[in-house]
Amino acid sequence: MLNSLKGLWVTFVSTVNGLRDPVTREYPSTGTLWKRNKRPTPVQDRFMGFPALTWDGEVEEPFCTSCMVCIRQCPTQCMSATMIDNPAHQEGRSSRRKIVESFEINLNRCILCGICVEVCNFDAIVMSHEHEMSTYQRNGDRVDLPALLDIGKKFQQETEWVPPTVLAKQRAAKEAGQEEVAQDGPANEEPAAAADSADG
Ligand code: SF4
Ligand code: SF4
Repeated sequence: MLNSLKGLWVTFVSTVNGLRDPVTREYPSTGTLWKRNKRPTPVQDRFMGFPALTWDGEVEEPFCTSCMVCIRQCPTQCMSATMIDNPAHQEGRSSRRKIVESFEINLNRCILCGICVEVCNFDAIVMSHEHEMSTYQRNGDRVDLPALLDIGKKFQQETEWVPPTVLAKQRAAKEAGQEEVAQDGPANEEPAAAADSADG
């Protein structure tokens, strides 16, 4: 009898807790059963939504050179692109000899695996936070270059995106600096030690 009551009490407490802070949430509502606000559940920083292309604000052009590496590696073959000679390079404004002319991703076929991001050597593609792009048309989710750049720019702005190669360089420089300090440390201590012994 006592054990049954204990069991019922556990069920009651779990139910009340579940109502106060549900494990599952009704989309797009968030909050508790009583305090609903109609907005999508915020995504985490590392959330992987649809792939998008990044924008190089320094040169005012896409990072993508249309090198085709991601297109060849994509397991669902949902991407296509074309390239042109970069007029900005000819004018001496950009280091990119080639630049993307057109780019398309069929997001209906994308499985959000992130391989395209992994293989890109130019920081040109990201897994954005965009995930609400359902349409009723069969080919309604074929997204072209301007739209991919728009999604990418939004993602860059929201996350204060820094190109991964720049981050890697910063990290390497920091580690090199720390190593230098570690190496310099004992050397700097020697004169002090020597001074101490001289005082003594
Ligand atoms: S996104 Fe990267 S890997 Fe893909 S075509 Fe552009 S530069 Fe090449
Ligand atoms: S996330 Fe995967 S499936 Fe989607 S475009 Fe990139 S490589 Fe292709």
